[in-house]
Amino acid sequence: MFHIASEKEIKEGKVTDVYFKRTEEILKKKRIKKRVAMEVVAHKFPSHYPWAILAGIEEVVELFRDKPVDIDSMLEGTFFYPEEPVLTISGEYSSFAVYETPLLGLICQASGIATKAARCKKIAGERLVVSFGARRMHPAISPMIERAAFLGGCDGVAVIKSAELIGEEAIGTMPHALILIMGDTVKATEAFHEVIPKGVKRVSLIDTLGDEKFEAVRVAKALGKDLFAVRLDTPASRRGDFLKILEEVRWELDQRGFKDVKLFLSGGIDEEEILRLSPKAFAYGVGTAISNARVIDFSLDIIEIEEKPFTKRGKLSGRKQLWRCPKCGKREVTLANRRLIKCSCGGRFEGLLRPLVRRGKLVTELPRVQGIRKNVLKELKKAEL
Ligand SMILES: [Zn+2]
Repeated sequence: MFHIASEKEIKEGKVTDVYFKRTEEILKKKRIKKRVAMEVVAHKFPSHYPWAILAGIEEVVELFRDKPVDIDSMLEGTFFYPEEPVLTISGEYSSFAVYETPLLGLICQASGIATKAARCKKIAGERLVVSFGARRMHPAISPMIERAAFLGGCDGVAVIKSAELIGEEAIGTMPHALILIMGDTVKATEAFHEVIPKGVKRVSLIDTLGDEKFEAVRVAKALGKDLFAVRLDTPASRRGDFLKILEEVRWELDQRGFKDVKLFLSGGIDEEEILRLSPKAFAYGVGTAISNARVIDFSLDIIEIEEKPFTKRGKLSGRKQLWRCPKCGKREVTLANRRLIKCSCGGRFEGLLRPLVRRGKLVTELPRVQGIRKNVLKELKKAEL
């Protein structure tokens, strides 16, 4: 058996810290039933990121389907800042106490991945960023990881099951194994060209057996116009100066009339490598940096009991709304029952926490991931790292 909880077990509240279950038992025994509102906030972000992107909300809706709770939330893909409420959940406390663990787990990880993907995409600009990191993580959660990566701005995902979930074609090149088994880079590339349907771009992996620049020229000569790109996945041990290798490969290809053959880079790529290699790169396969992204440390705290503002020390009590002026970008948090209307710039504030679930039923239409990604890319243009 795989060491994972089933969907049913998660929905039954089995993936919970035991102290929630004990709290539920105590309240039941003491016949205490109190309606509470709780708020999800991150007080700071990893590595002092200035902003983060919310993800995982679609699964939150699934977690609370048919449960007696109400949820107001930002939409997935919304940029947010430290100390801003991103989601409010309310109901009788015992009816949802055990879901704190999975609720936070769903959004902390997905938001961390989406944020990291967006940071990589911001630096890469027009260059493609493809999610390559499924192999670093438990396979059961690959679709979640790659959806969050795509939502955050990745141009594609490598895993078939993830691509199915988001309604995209999986993107891939060829593994070292194919070249080793065929015994030669050109032979392997020609076999790929012969067998794999025409619609799939021909990207030859050129760092398996010989020097990258000679291999690049060999495959370019063999495939001619059909060669879309060459991929370099040179391990760190042989890498030397990666940018220098790219410059050599580019030079040799250009001199021989293969200016259109693009360079696809992978292997240990993170923000710094993207920044450094971008003069020569066309696309990046980003693995661990995205799939194992630092999580956003959200916390969930009671902010209201029986309709009265009440919370622990170090927090602001009361149910809140986060307002944003679409015109100038100004943001302000108020109590939820206060309405901010006009911004000083003349724009009209909009509330970012919107009704999502009422008594366990979805009350809004969830946007498609392609639409969410498009908005993220638009916002990303204005965002600074
Ligand atoms: Zn304004």
